[in-house]
Amino acid sequence: MSLLVTLLACAPAPELLTDGQLSAALAVAAEVDTQRLTDDVARMVNAHAADPGEVVTPWDRPLKRRDGEVALTAAFAELGLTVTVEDDSGEGWEVHNLVVELPGTSRPEEIVLVSAHYDVWYQGADDNSSGVAVLLELARALSTKEHARTVRIVAFDAEEVGLIGSARYYRRHADDDLRLVINMDSVGFASSEPGSQYAPPGFTLPDVGDFIVLMANDVAAREALVLGQLAGALPSPLALQGAVGSDDHRSPGTGDFHRSDHSQAWTQGTPGLFLTDTTNFRNELYHTEGDLPDTLDYGFLTQVGQLVVAGTWAIAEEGP
Ligand SMILES: [Zn+2]
Repeated sequence: MSLLVTLLACAPAPELLTDGQLSAALAVAAEVDTQRLTDDVARMVNAHAADPGEVVTPWDRPLKRRDGEVALTAAFAELGLTVTVEDDSGEGWEVHNLVVELPGTSRPEEIVLVSAHYDVWYQGADDNSSGVAVLLELARALSTKEHARTVRIVAFDAEEVGLIGSARYYRRHADDDLRLVINMDSVGFASSEPGSQYAPPGFTLPDVGDFIVLMANDVAAREALVLGQLAGALPSPLALQGAVGSDDHRSPGTGDFHRSDHSQAWTQGTPGLFLTDTTNFRNELYHTEGDLPDTLDYGFLTQVGQLVVAGTWAIAEEGP
């Protein structure tokens, strides 16, 4: 693993955002709203709570998907946006990946893809209604603005049972010109208590769980640094621990950071970033009935939302 700070010390330093690009991105990020994030997490959790779900062998707990799909589609519709359902059902699994496309103005074939899975165990507040709520804020902010590249928002299905939705999605879209993937999985849980954070074996992390983790493959190293730059420039700076994988386009160090949909993009060599609060290394309610909205830190979720909106905007505006 190479820490972002280590990478920053390397020469030549990659080009980061100019002051003008930075302030433009932060202005868009300022539209992220804590109350809406709170309401959208509740909206998704309420939908999942009303859904009996399906008990999946061998986990023996309810996977909730279809009522969440309906609620999320309605939320996008309220923003005037149309959801395309990519039906990748087959091999014994019904899969509905939900896609909202915000076309680029000058280079629409170049795509920045931002994702979060919407299927959950139980009610899934942190995992992953937190990430879904950020997708809605991103859609709200960017659908009313022009941007050079296309921003594609994807809510993946069937992540919890083995990344089935994203595996099928990236296989189908292998020829798309994906310039960057930003995937969020569990981005709303934080703690200021000493001893609240554990590290996956092979990694070192602070023992207070008040930061976001950002993982990148090597071909997204520069974009990881741009997000690091933005995190430090937010009105309330977001603490960030980052790592960049080695030179095979794939792996930053441990399988624990492959445990979400971005890994299916990494496998293809697509530049990809992964944002997470580290789930079970911080949150003992992970994959339990206790993963409920009142356990989240909405100030922290707001900071993550600002980072994702600013980063997506900045990368979507880059290029010749
Ligand atoms: Zn998850």
